Amino acid sequence: MTVGIVGGGITGLALQHYLSAEGVESVVFDAASEPGGVIDSRRVEGRVLDFGPQRTRLSPPLDSLVDSLGLRDELREADDGPLYVYRDGARRRVPFTPREAVETDLLSWRGKLRLLAEPLTGPPRDQETIETFLTRTLGREAAQYLVGPLYAGVYASHPDEMRVKHSFGRALDAHDVSGSLLVAAAKAALRGADLPPAVTFDDGMQTLPEALYAAHRDRVHLDTPVEAVRDAAEGFRLETPSRSVPVSTVILTTPAATTAGLLDSVAPETAQALAQLTYNSLVVVHLAAEATLDGAGHQVQYDEDYRTLGVTYNASLFGRDGVYTCYLGGSRYPDLLDESTATLRRLAESEFREMTGVDARALTVRRRPNVMPAYDTSWDALDDVATPPGIHLCANYESRAGLPGRVRQAKGVATRVAAVATGDRMAV
Ligand SMILES: Cc1cc2nc3c(=O)[nH]c(=O)nc-3n(C[C@H](O)[C@H](O)[C@H](O)COP(=O)(O)OP(=O)(O)OC[C@H]3O[C@@H](n4cnc5c(N)ncnc54)[C@H](O)[C@@H]3O)c2cc1C
Repeated sequence: MTVGIVGGGITGLALQHYLSAEGVESVVFDAASEPGGVIDSRRVEGRVLDFGPQRTRLSPPLDSLVDSLGLRDELREADDGPLYVYRDGARRRVPFTPREAVETDLLSWRGKLRLLAEPLTGPPRDQETIETFLTRTLGREAAQYLVGPLYAGVYASHPDEMRVKHSFGRALDAHDVSGSLLVAAAKAALRGADLPPAVTFDDGMQTLPEALYAAHRDRVHLDTPVEAVRDAAEGFRLETPSRSVPVSTVILTTPAATTAGLLDSVAPETAQALAQLTYNSLVVVHLAAEATLDGAGHQVQYDEDYRTLGVTYNASLFGRDGVYTCYLGGSRYPDLLDESTATLRRLAESEFREMTGVDARALTVRRRPNVMPAYDTSWDALDDVATPPGIHLCANYESRAGLPGRVRQAKGVATRVAAVATGDRMAV
């Protein structure tokens, strides 16, 4: 049995790693010339810049992965400073403790008191958007100024476009939260349950997929796009430009639109459903500044008239030589990608100056079309997704987008596929 994995981002490479640990043979095909998918680290003027994820929580599976790949010495733990939401002309501190909740100027007294009613509100409802859910449970202020910008901002979406069941609901399930958010947070605090640390690597996030690639490179084919998945007498065939590869099982880790194209002949209805899922586009601009702003970064409240969605302060998080990563665009401004590079530079620099009071110079501008799952109402099409036996989907539309979620899902799918393979062998 050979498992064919389409996509050599973190999901595909982690899948191969876990399958190999289970003694199951697999082969990865990736269209790009480097491993890692959206994870992309470069050095520019001597500074390490990440164009995809800036950091990850070191969840237990990621922690083990780091050890098994011998990366412990390259790991850098973030100096977790304050996080801010920018609104009404100032960056305002996000509260993480009861004391900070009392002190923050992000919410009025009325907004803070309204939070206390949350345990009396119910769990998410099936058709609710993030905005209606947060407003109903936490009150209008906390929805609009605190949780809404922090949550939707990460996906470059607006909370009134996002469905709870496709996004926040999954996060609640993953953390076993079925009732009140406040009660769950209080219980976690009493248990002393800390979040795993946020980390990167000395040479950036791409260190992780590169190490996975190095460990399995004889079974990873870069520059090899898969053009179709076809039924075969036994299993399937993966069609690449130069050959047709027989495999017993297929795991697709590609973005929904690509997967839709690949499944056209073997699962047309699923292909049609996946083609409907919306992904948001972003512009990533790296700035260099003399000043080091204290903190992890800021999100911009979504009704403010800025094109910047949020900024990660790599300078203070990881001591990275004045580097700030700005995300611009998102669901409300898809046309921003059509602006000239000079315009995007100026925009990022001037909005950063306005929000922080700090002068900065743009180092790079990168357009990233359709890169972030929108988790909006178009994702209702997931109800029509079902794959034939032997074809598995392992991607952010199946689970969660963050690296801990990607690695956890890869491990789960690898375990299930390996169990079938072991059963096959025993049957033989
Ligand atoms: C800008 C940005 C910032 C982010 N920030 C964070 C963060 O700070 N922390 C965090 O935890 N997560 C973050 N994420 C989310 C996380 O990085 C991604 O969800 C995750 O890396 C996706 O990995 P993947 O392997 O599932 O998909 P991808 O990385 O999309 O990999 C899919 C792979 O499929 C390949 N492919 C495409 N078409 C074909 C084809 N026809 N044949 C073969 N191969 C093909 C592609 O080349 C690619 O390598 C961020 C994501 C983005 C985009």
